[in-house]
Amino acid sequence: MSANSVALAYLVAAILFILTLKGLSSPLTARRGNMFGMAGMAIAVLTTLSVTHNVMYILLAIAVGGSIGAIVAKRIQMTEMPELVAAMHSLVGLAAVLVAMSAFHNPVAYGIALPGEMLHSSNRIELFIGTFVGAITFTGSIIAFGKLSGKVSGRPLRFPGQHWLNLALGLAAIGFGVVFFLNPSWTPFLIMTAIALLLGVLLIVPIGGADMPVVVSMLNSYSGWAAAGIGFTLNNNMLIIAGSLVGSSGAILSYIMCKAMNRAFFNVILGGFGGEAEAAVGDAVQRTYRSGSADDAAFMMGNADSVIIVPGYGLAVARAQHAINEMSKMLTEQGVRVRYAIHPVAGRMPGHMNVLLAEAEVPYDQVVEMDEINSDFSDTDVVLVIGANDVVNPAAKTDTSSPIYGMPILEAYKARTILIVKRSMATGYAGLDNDLFYLDKSMMVFGDAKKVVEDISKALQH
Ligand code: NDP
Repeated sequence: MSANSVALAYLVAAILFILTLKGLSSPLTARRGNMFGMAGMAIAVLTTLSVTHNVMYILLAIAVGGSIGAIVAKRIQMTEMPELVAAMHSLVGLAAVLVAMSAFHNPVAYGIALPGEMLHSSNRIELFIGTFVGAITFTGSIIAFGKLSGKVSGRPLRFPGQHWLNLALGLAAIGFGVVFFLNPSWTPFLIMTAIALLLGVLLIVPIGGADMPVVVSMLNSYSGWAAAGIGFTLNNNMLIIAGSLVGSSGAILSYIMCKAMNRAFFNVILGGFGGEAEAAVGDAVQRTYRSGSADDAAFMMGNADSVIIVPGYGLAVARAQHAINEMSKMLTEQGVRVRYAIHPVAGRMPGHMNVLLAEAEVPYDQVVEMDEINSDFSDTDVVLVIGANDVVNPAAKTDTSSPIYGMPILEAYKARTILIVKRSMATGYAGLDNDLFYLDKSMMVFGDAKKVVEDISKALQH
């Protein structure tokens, strides 16, 4: 392919990637957005292959990597997506480090130096930045994967002077980067890489519990910038554009998540934000609550004018999205106004509830975001909280000592009656007791979300 055709094909792919992001911003257009993404990636990969030597090796790597990816994607449960995403980010970070190392080892092969020539100063800076961001992304994502999958404790690990240590390590890494810039040799390069690897671990270990969603999207952003760094090293405009799009959209998503959880954006970037107070555990005083059956719940909802359903992580665990859609259809047919209230961090990944409800073909006009629906709770007869906990915990508004204090919540506690479907009185992700469950107007309906909803639907038929 001529240089002009390559540039044109990359431009088309870049436009398709931008349309992808636009499409993914709404559940209505997300499917189309994904199609644009696939088309853009196919064009980008084929164009790159057309100007690459040793295509056989690359095809072999694509076959091996693609097969592993396909098997993993097929096997993974929806609830395990965040940890899969974190694992994927770690690979992007590792790739950035390895490409930078190999480019430094043999810059001639990468076309960034002539034989016998020193690396150009701009290339040295690119190699340093790509490796630094890549190494932090690599180990940070591994720790995030461990925490999200429960392989390492999700509790924040804190020690005195942590921020100072991080600052000192950051400065040391930059110092070795400067040494590398002045005199490009392996010693400063490897020391800087080791420091960045350690920094990735130290930035993520102090983050715990409810703050993990922001970390996932931050790492998403880091992995994009790392990919853009590789793009500079490889002189590949496509990778620079795609990496920057991932980097900036991840940063914007992080900002939106920070707002949704009332966290300061810069604290997130610096690591070790939030969760200052330890989650309340164990020795809780015995408190009284009311419980009822699926039949009771059906009776209350069947006689209501308006019902708001608050889905949470438990809905995903029980795979109850289809059952809940069937139940809402029945209620709607009986003249009840049914809507779903979506909290931005309900579930275990951004957009988790939207994806589940879209999969069950819940009409989009019934799905309402938190900011829009919060003012309606006080005017609502019944709220059905299904598999949700932290996102409806009033402590976020009232208890200044709570680790989730300040996080916006769905104001379910304002409704006339609150039904809560879960299996026990156990806590949610943040490990906190929930006052909502003990209100006089609340009723617990114990059981697996899918089973309870199916029982409610049966009762509604009678
Ligand atoms: P929570 O984790 O707070 O609560 C989920 C509740 O679902 C639990 O209390 C559990 O209670 C119940 N549950 C679990 N399985 C079932 C089942 N099969 N049937 C019925 N109930 C079930 O979920 P929320 O969605 O309210 O809040 C999300 C939390 O996750 C927030 O703290 C958020 O910060 C965090 N988070 C969010 C991410 C995101 O991007 N969305 C990423 C990572 C973390 P029981 O065991 O008694 O059934």
